[in-house]
Amino acid sequence: RRAAREALGAAPDCERLLARLTAGLARPAELAALARGLLAAEALAERLDAEAGDVGGPQSAAQGGALRALSGRLRPAPDAARALAEALVERPEAAYGGGVLRPGADPAVDAAAAQRAAALERLAALEAQLREETAIEGLKLAYHRTWGYVIEAARGRLGAASGPPADWERRQSLRGVERFSEPRLRALADELESAEQALAAAERARVEALAAALAAQAARIRACAGALARLDAAAALADLAAERGWTRPELDTGLGLEIEAGRHPIVEAAGPPGAFAPNDLALSAGGAGAPQLLLLTGPNMSGKSTYLRQTALIVILAQAGCFVPAERARIGIVDRIFARVGAHDDLAAGRSTFLVEMLETARLLHGAGERSLVLLDEIGRGTSTWDGLAIAQAVAERLTAGRIGPRTLFATHFQELTALAGAVERVANAAVAAEEDGRGGLRFLHRVRPGAADRSWGVQVAAMAGLPRPVLERAAELLAALEGGGAAAERAERLLALPPPNAPAAAGAPSGDALIDPLVEELAGLDIDGLTPLEAISALYALRERARLELGPPAQLPLDALQSGGWAAAGG
Ligand code: ATP
Repeated sequence: RRAAREALGAAPDCERLLARLTAGLARPAELAALARGLLAAEALAERLDAEAGDVGGPQSAAQGGALRALSGRLRPAPDAARALAEALVERPEAAYGGGVLRPGADPAVDAAAAQRAAALERLAALEAQLREETAIEGLKLAYHRTWGYVIEAARGRLGAASGPPADWERRQSLRGVERFSEPRLRALADELESAEQALAAAERARVEALAAALAAQAARIRACAGALARLDAAAALADLAAERGWTRPELDTGLGLEIEAGRHPIVEAAGPPGAFAPNDLALSAGGAGAPQLLLLTGPNMSGKSTYLRQTALIVILAQAGCFVPAERARIGIVDRIFARVGAHDDLAAGRSTFLVEMLETARLLHGAGERSLVLLDEIGRGTSTWDGLAIAQAVAERLTAGRIGPRTLFATHFQELTALAGAVERVANAAVAAEEDGRGGLRFLHRVRPGAADRSWGVQVAAMAGLPRPVLERAAELLAALEGGGAAAERAERLLALPPPNAPAAAGAPSGDALIDPLVEELAGLDIDGLTPLEAISALYALRERARLELGPPAQLPLDALQSGGWAAAGG
């Protein structure tokens, strides 16, 4: 595996290079890269053939066969590739005219190169001769883009002699420098130019012939590029599987879905090693012991969405032919995954958040079949509680109404729905565990267990997010009043009986102060330009201390007081 990854890492994007080649656009450097890639593919093929015989285990024959089938495609044009690789220098110049082919690769190129070298030598000799003839100090020959080869001399030095020789033609006069031409120089420049043109033409002809031989194998090279891509994907996935302890899933044609110690590959990789809590899952559309629809409840932040998504990812990875992040997985082939997850809108298309939610739900109800996997994450949250609950329950009932329904994970904060587990045979409850940490906060265990959660702990999670303390206190107070139950009118009555703590004392005397935090005012008044660095850092420390006092450490919220609505009274 490691050898394959190294070889693949060195191989260029053969498919792109091939497209350049067949379009006649490939530059010499690209041809060299393609040739090297094809030779690397050939070396890889040899390695694979050697390995294919050695693959152990019960699936050896199949695996060996797959490797052999791929390696058979990795030698598309060995002669043409080798010829190119041998003819081109390691890093060919971008343009023709020397520096593309190795010496000895082409007699015409070598001859033209020799001619050019000779002309250059004579140019150097002419420079020395001119210096001697004219005694102009600092005289030199130079190449100029507009004027070609010129004699360059400092203007001040010209006067020292008796001006430039008679057969010199002035090409350009600058403030300090004059440029001239001269018959011998013109003849030599012509010679040099024709040698250069011959060199470029010979190089181009040779490279194009070599490229044409390679392009004639385009179809086979394309197959090789495809095989390289497959091996690249397979080797990368195999690396992941080995590094992260993934296992080979079992796939069958049944309607079950069993996962032992499944993990979310991305959440797991993002956290410290060992921090992710693995979870099991058993679903069955065929009604073989496991539920068809699992209702998942649990506090905010407990891991419901993660559990839903890791299930989909495990199925997708398995069906893509990859190992999966689980200790064991047995998957009845899934035809489609329907997911109603998260909140988004499409305002420009005239779709509100709730409408998008319902459109997705409609599509899922119309489209999901017995082989599908359905993930519903908090359906019915975008409308009023009762509408939402009613829709959620009707959807759950519908999904379990047919002879065989899709395997479904249904995460919800509607505790009322958990009663369905007793009433509908194919529905079961599971909850993600969290426990009180004894200091008023919550400890998330991220463990999925049978049974229903009894509450969502939304206010605690809001505290973790840093909602201002007065808002949290007020929310806890209102929550306690709401949890008393009763009809909407009764609940509204109870809420009204709890006036907001910072209500303006009298109409017409609005208290702006209540909204502007003193900390913010202090920050705004800070004269940063007038502070020394030391004063600035100590001001920063002081502000942070104030801010921390104001927030209070979230883990130490007095939970009982919050529940009873008496937090302020508890002196928090
Ligand atoms: P909400 O109801 O607020 O949407 P949720 O129950 O869907 O929350 P998730 O969004 O799935 O919760 O998870 C919250 C965070 O908890 C994740 O970002 C992840 O960091 C962490 N987490 C979730 N599951 C696990 C797990 N099994 N092991 C470790 N950490 C986890």
